Amino acid sequence: MRIARRPGPCQHLPHRPRGGLGRTVPRSPAQTKECLHCGRPFADRKRWASRGQWEAVHYCSVKCRAAARRARGPA
Ligand SMILES: [Zn+2]
Repeated sequence: MRIARRPGPCQHLPHRPRGGLGRTVPRSPAQTKECLHCGRPFADRKRWASRGQWEAVHYCSVKCRAAARRARGPA
């Protein structure tokens, strides 16, 4: 019998603090970009918009991001 015990919390994206720093974007025009990997247009997501990550997003999905990364070679 083995009990899987991990030292830290999950290695997921950091949780957003709730309340307090509530940056509300009243009117966020849905921006679109073309995925650099598959070329498909994709729209801004709340998650990105709220964190100001839209500028840094170049791929429609983590799958494409990973694939493009692999194609480019290990960083
Ligand atoms: Zn894509």
